[in-house]
Order: sequence, then C-alpha cells, then structure tokens
Amino acid sequence: MPPSATERHVLALIATDAAALHVAPPRVRFVESCGGPCYEALFNRIEIDRETLALPEPLLRIVVAHEVGHATQRATMLFDFACTLMATTAFLTIPCIAFATAADIDIWHVGVPGLGFMAAFIACSKIWRAHGAKRSAALELDADAKAAAICGAAPALAALEAMATRAPISAARLHAMRARDEAHRRNPAPRVSGR
Ligand SMILES: [Zn+2]
Repeated sequence: MPPSATERHVLALIATDAAALHVAPPRVRFVESCGGPCYEALFNRIEIDRETLALPEPLLRIVVAHEVGHATQRATMLFDFACTLMATTAFLTIPCIAFATAADIDIWHVGVPGLGFMAAFIACSKIWRAHGAKRSAALELDADAKAAAICGAAPALAALEAMATRAPISAARLHAMRARDEAHRRNPAPRVSGR
C-alpha cells in the first residue's frame, strides 16, 4: 500500500531532522498498535503508531524530532544493551561452570551456593535496573533537548505539556523543558538548521 500523505510528511520530517542532527536517517515502520512512538536502536528504526499519526501537526513534528533525537543516541543504547547482555551471560555462566566441574554433588555443596548465586543475581538485577532507569531518563532528556533545538523551546514545551495530558510524562522532563524555555526566553539561541 503506498504511504498516505501523513506518512510521507513524517518521512520528510525524519529526513530533515536527521540532517539537522547530523545522523543517518533511521528507517520508519508505521504500525497499527497504540503503544506510542518508539525508537529501536537495534534496527535503527522509528515505529510510529496510528494514534501518533493522528496527532495535530505541531505535536507530530515534536514527537518525530524527539524520536530522531534518540537515533543520535544509538551507539550509547547499543553499548548499554551489549553490557547488559554480557553481564547477564557472565553472571549465569560462572555458577554453571562451577557446578559442572564440581566433583561433589552433595546437595549442601551445590544447593546452598546455588541459592547464594540466585540471591546475588536478584540483587545485581535490581541495581542494574535502577541504573538502566537512570540512563533511559537521561536519554529522554537529551532527546527532548534535541527536539527543542530543532523545533524551538516554546513549541517543544507546549507539545510536551499537551502530551502529558494524554500519556504519563515524567516530571523531570517537564521541569527540564520549562527550564529550557525559560533560558531561551532570556537568551534566545538559534535553532539547529534543518527546518
Ligand atoms: Zn523518548
């Protein structure tokens, strides 16, 4: 099916934003689901759902700019993903090798250290998840900053406030965007070229 006018508009916005942010234009997939737009670092692809496509044009612009902002973080996202994968593999490999090479199969010599490993794994997962949440919050703020640099601080703030009425938006993102708008009013900075 050929792309609709809105889909073509989104593709053009992505190409322009990517040029402005000096990043290769990510691929785009239009989906039916209502999960909201998202950037997939693994495939360098932005997913845009029907609900997002139906947004008023000024909102759609900011949402697209935000997602292209994520494309600039691809290396960081892939590095985080690789670290998580390697840490998990290493953590699970250690007990497997230890138990496979253990001569003693007495339940106390296998079960007790095994439970210890499980407890350590759960504790480390919690710490890693908290670390991951902090990292993704920082990436969200960075993508917002890039959207504001492309579209302007005031329109980006208006869009984020409008989006907050539709979906949960963290207070930190709203606070940072308000601060950015305030700073821009005091000291207007030029937008990054592209639009
Ligand atoms: Zn985001």
